[in-house]
Amino acid sequence: MPDKAALRALPSVDRVLSTPDGAALIDAHGRAEVTAAIRAALAGLRAEGGTGAATVEAAVLARARDWLAARQPAGLRPVFNLTGTVLHTNLGRALLAEAAIEAATTAMREAMALEFDLGTGRRGERDDHLRSLLCELTGAEDATAVNNNAAAVLLALNTLGAGREALVSRGELIEIGGAFRMPDIMARAGVRLVEIGTTNRTHARDYEAAIGPETGLILKVHTSNYRIEGFTAAVGGAALAGIARKAGVPLLNDLGSGTLIDLAPHGLQREPTVREVVAEGADLVTFSGDKLLGGPQAGFILGRRDLIAAINRNPMKRALRLDKIRLAALVATLQLYRDPDRLAARLPTLRLLARDTAEIAALAARLAPRVAALLPPGFGAEACDCRSQIGSGALPLDTLPSAGLRVTAPRGRELERLVAALRDLPRPVLGRLQDGALLLDLRCLEEEAGFLGSLGHLARRYGLA
Ligand SMILES: *Cc1c(COP(=O)(O)O)cnc(C)c1O
Repeated sequence: MPDKAALRALPSVDRVLSTPDGAALIDAHGRAEVTAAIRAALAGLRAEGGTGAATVEAAVLARARDWLAARQPAGLRPVFNLTGTVLHTNLGRALLAEAAIEAATTAMREAMALEFDLGTGRRGERDDHLRSLLCELTGAEDATAVNNNAAAVLLALNTLGAGREALVSRGELIEIGGAFRMPDIMARAGVRLVEIGTTNRTHARDYEAAIGPETGLILKVHTSNYRIEGFTAAVGGAALAGIARKAGVPLLNDLGSGTLIDLAPHGLQREPTVREVVAEGADLVTFSGDKLLGGPQAGFILGRRDLIAAINRNPMKRALRLDKIRLAALVATLQLYRDPDRLAARLPTLRLLARDTAEIAALAARLAPRVAALLPPGFGAEACDCRSQIGSGALPLDTLPSAGLRVTAPRGRELERLVAALRDLPRPVLGRLQDGALLLDLRCLEEEAGFLGSLGHLARRYGLA
C-alpha cells in the first residue's frame, strides 16, 4: 500500500529547483539536465511510495545528484599504465612531448596559417609544414602524412596499384590486430594480391618470376608482431629495390613502427632507421606517428617526388588528411629529433623505453611498503624484477629489464576483486596478471604521489573507510 501522506509530501520539480542546492546544481549542469534529474528522482521516489526522510527536498536532490553523476561519460580518462607495455594501443600509445602538447594547445585555441603561405599571401599546402622536416630527417625526396599508418598503406597501395597486382611475400601477409589484415587492406585499395614464395622462405627469383605487365608494385611489410625463425629466407630491402628498379615497378616498404634514430645507444635492439630504408632504394616508405616515433596518431608516406605527387592527387588523400591540432603536434615532435642529445629527456616514449632499470627498481623498493599499507587486509605487495614490452608491434621479441610490484591476494577470487577495484579508482590502475599475482610494472610510473593518492581510495571501495 503506498503511503498517501508520504506521496503527497513529495515536492514539485519547481520547488526543488528553487532551493539553494537546486540553484547550485543548475550552475554546474544547466537547467535542462537538473530538471530531468529531479523528474527522474521524483519518479523513483513515487514508485517507492515516497520517502521517510526528514527533509524531502534533500532526499530528492541526493537522488538527482546520483542521476547526474551516472550520466557523466566515464570512459575516456587518464589511467596509470602499469601493464609493462610502453606503447599500448588500447591505452592510446605514445605520450606526447611537452613541446607537442603546447603546439597542439595553441593550434586548438588559435587560427593557424594551415593552408596559407605567409610569404606570398597565397594559398599554401598543409603538407608544407612537415615536408622539409621529414625530408631532412630521413633523406627522402618528398613526404606527406595522413590519419594513421593503416591509412598511409591504403592510400599508397591504391595510388600505385589500383586495378593491378601487388607482389607480397607469403611471410609478410600480416594481421596486426584491430582488423588491419594486409590482404583485406589490399582488396579495399583495389589491388590484386599476388603471393610470393612460401611462409618461411621467399627468394629473389620468386619475385622476378611473378613480375609481368599487370604488376603495379612490390610491397614489403615489416612483420611487426611476429618473427619467422629456423629455416628461413627473405629478400632484403636493398635487393628488392634492385629487382623493382630493373622491372620498372615501384617498391613500397611498410615499416610499421619505423624509427628515425638508432635505438641501440638507448638500450634497445637495433632496427634499420627510416633514413637507411630510404637509402636502400625503396620508392615509398610508410610508418606510424605514434609508435616509436613518439608523436600523435599519424601515418607518414615518404619517397619519390612523382609518386608523392600522385598520392596528393588521389581523392582519397582528402578523406585521410590530418587536422591542424595533430599537424602542430607532429611538427613539434619531429623538431625534437634535430637535437638528438636531449631527445631522451624530452620525448616521453624514448624516456620510458630507455629508463634506467636501477631507477625503476629503487622506485619499486620505495613504493612496496607504502602500497602494501594501502591495500585491503590480507593483500601483500613486494618489489620484484620483471620485463617490459615496447608494444604496438615495435620490436616484438625485445623485452626490457624492469621492476615492479607483485601484489598477492589472500585467496584466488580476491585478486580478481582487487583488479576490478583498481579499475574503478578515480584514476584507474592497470597492471597485468602473472603467475597468480597482479604485476604492476613501474617503468611508466612517473607520478608517484598521484599513484599513492589514487590507491588511497581503495579502502572506500572496500567499505573500510
Ligand atoms: C602498426 C602497423 C600498421 C598500422 O599502423 P597504425 O598507425 O596503427 O595505423 C601498419 N603496418 C605495420 C607493419 C604495422 O606494424
